[in-house]
Amino acid sequence: FMIAAQNSVVLMDYTVKDGEGNIIDTSSGHEPLAFIVGLGNIIPGLEREFIGKKKGDAFTVTVKPEDGYGDKDDALVEVVPRAQFAGVKNLGVGMQLQAQTDDDTMVVTVINLTETEVTVDANHPLAGKTLNFDVKVVDVRVASPEEMTHGHVHGVGGHHH
Ligand code: ZN
Repeated sequence: FMIAAQNSVVLMDYTVKDGEGNIIDTSSGHEPLAFIVGLGNIIPGLEREFIGKKKGDAFTVTVKPEDGYGDKDDALVEVVPRAQFAGVKNLGVGMQLQAQTDDDTMVVTVINLTETEVTVDANHPLAGKTLNFDVKVVDVRVASPEEMTHGHVHGVGGHHH
């Protein structure tokens, strides 16, 4: 079997849990997740663990916030007038919304709500969390020149375009 290294395509099955053992996300029941090693397609604390691994290898990794989605940044929490959300149906705490910035869209989470104001948090929902991954390597292969140009995997577990 091919050994994963920089620029290898890796397909993995994974389950990720928070510090209390609650499942946050899993590929179970879906196709594996595919990424190119070393391009930052996935969080660094997980990515580097695949170097030297091969098809069939299974392992667990604990990823601290600094190697994952970062610490929570209070500057990304903002209070905005509720009038700005006039078009949103059933606005509620925990709701995730797409916000348009100058050249990007970002996802914000509603964390508080009053008659006149809405507090939104643009931190990644997993920021500040230590994550425990159960991972299985489904396949390792060479990235195609086109995949390297695009910076992501095509086909199973990757982009379909
Ligand atoms: Zn592409």
